[in-house]
Amino acid sequence: MISPVELQFIAAAAGILFALGLLLSFLARRSLTEKSLDQKLEQALPGVQCAQCGYPGCSAYAKALAAGEVTCDKCVPGGPDTVKELADILGIDPPADESEEMLFAPRRVAFIHQSLCTGCHRCARHCPVDAIVGDIKQPHQVIARECIACGDCLKQCPEECIELITEDLSLKNFNWNIQSIRITGGAK
Ligand code: SF4
Ligand code: SF4
Ligand code: SF4
Repeated sequence: MISPVELQFIAAAAGILFALGLLLSFLARRSLTEKSLDQKLEQALPGVQCAQCGYPGCSAYAKALAAGEVTCDKCVPGGPDTVKELADILGIDPPADESEEMLFAPRRVAFIHQSLCTGCHRCARHCPVDAIVGDIKQPHQVIARECIACGDCLKQCPEECIELITEDLSLKNFNWNIQSIRITGGAK
């Protein structure tokens, strides 16, 4: 038979355990929903892991950004829109003139010298954005408008028949996203 004192003790212990459970679940939920600064920055990056920013991947670049070690205009595939988004997250103005520089910078794209290509398909398998097409044992080619110039295919080609070329700036490949142009001068 359980005495009233024992009953009181069990009820108090159950109450404490219940309150602890609630507290733990609240803390767990909060840590899941609250993203750290570098997580938010990484989410804004394209996730291509091409290292053109000078860091081994998007995560490393995001951490360096969060630590204030680098400016937010280094992600080549991301372009001016990403510069602006990163600056918004960091609560700073985008670096002066950089978005215009990126806007007017000629695009770089991969180019396959078809006469040397054996159609092994290795480049296509490694392209992160599926910008290379071609049947096995047939010369492959790059869909220039899809290519983000990450350079991964160059490392994979056993024939060394891929190179990065610079496209001439033309109406066809101009960045028509007018939102990405920042007006940096003018009379006040
Ligand atoms: S350049 Fe951009 S996409 Fe490439 S690794 Fe750096 S942050 Fe990622
Ligand atoms: S450089 Fe090569 S691997 Fe990278 S996006 Fe262009 S075609 Fe694909
Ligand atoms: S890796 Fe080189 S040889 Fe193989 S399909 Fe691609 S371009 Fe051609």
